[in-house]
Amino acid sequence: MTERVFNFNPGPATLPLAILEKAQKEMLNYNGTGMSVMEISHRSKDFEAIILGAEALLKELMAIPDNYRVLFIGMGATGQFDMIPMNYIVDGKIGNYVITGSFANKAYKEAVKVGPTHIAASTKDLNFTRVANLDEIQMSENPAYLHITSNNTIFGTQWKEFPDTGDVPLIADMSSDILSRKIDVSKFALIYAGAQKNLGPAGAAVVIIRDDMIEKSNQNLPTMLKYDTYAKNNSLYNTPASFTIYMIKLMLEWVKEQGGLDVIEKRNEEKAKIVYDAVDASNGFYKGHAEVGSRSLMNVTFRLPNEDLEKEFVAEAAKVGLAGLKGHREVGGIRASIYNAMPVEGCRKLAEFMKEFQAKKA
Ligand code: PMP
Repeated sequence: MTERVFNFNPGPATLPLAILEKAQKEMLNYNGTGMSVMEISHRSKDFEAIILGAEALLKELMAIPDNYRVLFIGMGATGQFDMIPMNYIVDGKIGNYVITGSFANKAYKEAVKVGPTHIAASTKDLNFTRVANLDEIQMSENPAYLHITSNNTIFGTQWKEFPDTGDVPLIADMSSDILSRKIDVSKFALIYAGAQKNLGPAGAAVVIIRDDMIEKSNQNLPTMLKYDTYAKNNSLYNTPASFTIYMIKLMLEWVKEQGGLDVIEKRNEEKAKIVYDAVDASNGFYKGHAEVGSRSLMNVTFRLPNEDLEKEFVAEAAKVGLAGLKGHREVGGIRASIYNAMPVEGCRKLAEFMKEFQAKKA
């Protein structure tokens, strides 16, 4: 390939060309420093402007209330699977989990190592074809929190409405749909996401945390595992993933330039509809994995009549510049990840390809 392709990879994922070009332009000399962002001190005024700027932009774009902080923490989203129970499963409290996919289950399994846990709902018996219905959720007594996974990257399902947990902190792994739609942040005590889908390149988890959760974080933990270490030091207690955070800031600026979440949300709905319509119009040649009511706008998963055709589909698509369509082994088939940076054009081209492929093979 000599040109850029439409990249449907699940993460690391496609980034807007405009921000890659901006990073390229600034690569050798950032803001007149004579150095690249990778070479400047994380204690410099320039970097402080980047990290505080990224926090402020995310707050603006997601309408995050004033009593929340945005933290940048290493170890990816998986690190949060550990930090959450370590910080909040204390004093006999019980970590409550809704299991709607592989990552939800991984989060739960980490908590089991830390303290008492409870599965408040699970859709495992349904092969994770949908998220939990709100009336299926049964919390334990004395819950530390309820943990959900807002978008299940592997299975292609997404919560459309969120449980009302009253005083119980609601915690969400939004790794694969943060910043893709408008949500009411005030319903959540803590939201986290690995950066490498909708926020930028890999290297950091973004954590949106309510002030009382910072205060409540377990003081008996090693420094790097406590939320208040990051909050007190603007995520600069140690050297953060500075280049990743710089890219996140560029990505947030791009989202703002596009018109913010109003525009992004509508575009994501339009994009997903194009691909799901192609599935639905195929007379069963393409079969969606997710139940219609749980369909993810970020990861579209579907199967073909057999595995040979699926392999052929992925290979033929790659030849015409549609890359990264192979599904995860737990579902098989095809997965088209269509995060914020995937243009409408990419989804149109995929839908056309699906039609042509079916015409040739059905
Ligand atoms: N949660 C979800 C929903 C994910 O999709 C992923 C990564 N695909 C993770 C957690 C793990 O993220 P990381 O690789 O950043 O640890």
